[in-house]
Amino acid sequence: MERTEISKLGEFGLIKHIAEDIKTTRESTVKGIGDDAAVIDAGDKYLLVTTDMLVEGVHFDLSYAPLKHLGYKAVAVNVSDICAMNGTATQITVSIGISNRFSLEAVEALYAGINAAAAAYGVDVVGGDTVSSRSGLIISITALGEVAKDKVVYRSGAKDKDLLVVSGDLGAAFMGLQVLEREKAVYESTPGVQPDLDGHDYILERQLKPEARVDAVVMLEQLGIQPTSMIDVSDGLASEVIHLCDQSGMGCALYEEKIPIDPTVVTTASDFKLDPTICALNGGEDYELLFTVPIGDFDKLKGSPHFTVIGHMAEGAAQQLVARDGSMHALTAQGWDAFLNKESPESED
Ligand code: ADP
Ligand code: MG
Repeated sequence: MERTEISKLGEFGLIKHIAEDIKTTRESTVKGIGDDAAVIDAGDKYLLVTTDMLVEGVHFDLSYAPLKHLGYKAVAVNVSDICAMNGTATQITVSIGISNRFSLEAVEALYAGINAAAAAYGVDVVGGDTVSSRSGLIISITALGEVAKDKVVYRSGAKDKDLLVVSGDLGAAFMGLQVLEREKAVYESTPGVQPDLDGHDYILERQLKPEARVDAVVMLEQLGIQPTSMIDVSDGLASEVIHLCDQSGMGCALYEEKIPIDPTVVTTASDFKLDPTICALNGGEDYELLFTVPIGDFDKLKGSPHFTVIGHMAEGAAQQLVARDGSMHALTAQGWDAFLNKESPESED
């Protein structure tokens, strides 16, 4: 039999391939594979279901990610996917694979983080599974949530001329990871040297203890804004903009100068000889919300320090990044074409 390497498909290609042979048959399955969470008809509301797995050595490195933070992050990334449907997370299940390298105290530290996040997001831990693992720690969390039927937001609803908006700022989690990796390399080559993490509080926190933007979902409701499409930024802005565009059948213009980037990200990127825009486009793990709104909602958003308009949708047009100098570049999940020769960060998943 022929053997096809998975690397030929990539993560999204693989999921697409798996999805080709999956047909849903239940009337209650409103949305299956393809959005941030599945949507299930629960009578007067929609039930939301999403799952995310974190694997040691792939998604985290215990030499710098404290177990407590890791537990918190594992919950936050799932709650973030519920937020991306405009929903409210309600319960989680937690499954762990652990090797004998881990002590009871280690598991307690992990659960201290999980429980802190559950309390912060108001979700109940209602079950899970515990297995042994031979390849380090694995944490898989499933989150349930709910949303009123007329409030659910998919990736696919963006319309021509809708404004493209993002919460918070981007690229910081990626820069935090660069600092942690650098200090780990220094430590490994010169044992005994203390890591120099001074002045990097914000980007380190963004990497180690990200928050789901539950507050942004609440603010949108208070502003009277119902997004036409939404996704959370887990893989980098470029990838997520492409998802919204593809699933909505749209092109877009994304303005480089509008992308919100914290000043400390700009200075740290410069230390690493990285372009901060590339870090925002491809870095990932920001867990901000990216969404579209009708252009008529601009006045409601204007002046909010929490949201930034970064572009607009354009039917029949290409998916483009407009650089600071006005030049247009095809948006790709790997940055944009003009920068292919430059050093560019790679996403981890
Ligand atoms: P996110 O980044 O929001 O967590 P993913 O890119 O992981 O989303 O997943 C995209 C969609 O593919 C989701 O609907 C998810 O449930 C689905 N999916 C991912 N992996 C699998 C799989 N192995 N089998 C079935 N569905 C999957
Ligand atoms: Mg998501």
